[in-house]
Amino acid sequence: MPVGVCMWFGEMAVNITERLGGRRVTREEAREIVDRCEELGLIHMSRNTTDEIDFMCNCDRWHCEVVGQVLKQPRPGLVFNSGFQPTFTAERCVACETCINRCPPEALTMGEGKLPVVNTDRCFGCGVCATGCPEGAIAMETKPGFPVPPKTAKELVTALRNSVQGRN
Ligand code: SF4
Ligand code: SF4
Repeated sequence: MPVGVCMWFGEMAVNITERLGGRRVTREEAREIVDRCEELGLIHMSRNTTDEIDFMCNCDRWHCEVVGQVLKQPRPGLVFNSGFQPTFTAERCVACETCINRCPPEALTMGEGKLPVVNTDRCFGCGVCATGCPEGAIAMETKPGFPVPPKTAKELVTALRNSVQGRN
């Protein structure tokens, strides 16, 4: 399991390097880490806001507690979701099944036309299929009807609070 691949940015990164023994890296090193994580099929994760992103985890499906719990659900795509889904270009796909084997929630199966088919109840939009396709046959597109995430952490807390109150 790769270690040292989760990152903090900005003020939190300063606190973590000074107090908790985090390692400071350059932009180039950070980019190399992200590329290595993509090769390994790790899942980029962060807070669900459009701005103020201050951390990025690169989660391993077999060891990350959060991802592990979500994968135990029958419909992981309803528990968390990036708001994106894969689309496949038939002319490029060679039916190698790399994407099917890389997909953490096992959301892909090979369709009758030798083109992968996505189960949107299981897909959480991680993009691991797209980054691993040797033919560049997969693009990630916005999921139709998916709400735009809140802008800031404060707005996210408000949205979550309203959502919980709406259910009660
Ligand atoms: S990895 Fe790419 S080429 Fe291989 S089956 Fe999936 S979409 Fe097709
Ligand atoms: S984006 Fe691709 S790898 Fe990720 S869950 Fe959906 S189908 Fe699987």
